[in-house]
Amino acid sequence: MPTLAAQPGLSIRLSNFIFARKPGIEVDAWKTWTAEEKPDLNRAVARLNGYVLEGAGEILVCAASDFENFMAPRPVLNEQALQELTEVTRVIASHRWPIRIHATYDEPITRILDVFEQVFKETDYRSRWAIDHAETIPTHNIARVKALGGGIAIQNRLAFTGEFFLERYGEQASASTAPIQEIVHAGIPVGAGTDATRVNSYNPWLSLAWIVTGQTAGGTQIASPSNRPSREEALWLYTLGSVWFSGEEDVKGRIAPDQYADFAILSADYLSVPEEQIGTIESVLTVTGGDVVYSAPPFTTFAPEQLSSVHPEWSPVAVFGGFQRADEA
Ligand SMILES: [Zn+2]
Repeated sequence: MPTLAAQPGLSIRLSNFIFARKPGIEVDAWKTWTAEEKPDLNRAVARLNGYVLEGAGEILVCAASDFENFMAPRPVLNEQALQELTEVTRVIASHRWPIRIHATYDEPITRILDVFEQVFKETDYRSRWAIDHAETIPTHNIARVKALGGGIAIQNRLAFTGEFFLERYGEQASASTAPIQEIVHAGIPVGAGTDATRVNSYNPWLSLAWIVTGQTAGGTQIASPSNRPSREEALWLYTLGSVWFSGEEDVKGRIAPDQYADFAILSADYLSVPEEQIGTIESVLTVTGGDVVYSAPPFTTFAPEQLSSVHPEWSPVAVFGGFQRADEA
């Protein structure tokens, strides 16, 4: 990605975080990263805020990650993992880097908040921080996140795994997983996304469909009506809600003066199509910074320079001829 960012014509703006990948060496790795890397520096040559390192996360310590396999019992964070998380958080917080942390279940969230409350106080940490996922966060931990000034980023992972969650934890627990409305009403920053590319599709419409309908891709109803935001609220989470997490409130999330000229013309009206069609919406014209970066009929006359063909050749994207087109599936 840094190589792409160094070329003209970058078609997206990417805010990224450093993700610890190698278990056992995290404390030293974070000491090196916080000494050598520079957050908030745009490395794209031709795009404002095109490629910017924001901070640390969403994995700080591999062993402190509760992998979201709903076919298996909840993982438990052991003392060693918490010890490492404390040390790593101390390093990152003392450098004032923004933090995001992966946490799926209530139990690990409780232990992570124990660590954060202690270390943030110790280091007088006041930067932006957030929990990613938080599918089963309860009321008292939402209050702790709020008291510490944190945000919560939600995704649509359950759109693909909801049936397994339902089978293991039952209808009542599933109805408020994640408790989107409760988190929103608590008055803390909330953003919406997909958790792509490792565990999900990056298609935003699949996430908006999940938030609005509470139904899995297989059609199983998971979320209760009281836990489902309206389409307008879901769109707000996906745009103005999400910009808080990269500190870009002044330049992204709205079509308004002083904001970047980033927008898309859609294949259907998100606000009025039947709910079951939200997931099949596509962009037919995408504009980044005033440049057309993608077009499809009827806007192909505005097409940017043809990209080289999809790699690898066998990629479903190449064969499918589109993105989530239900009529061709
Ligand atoms: Zn994660």
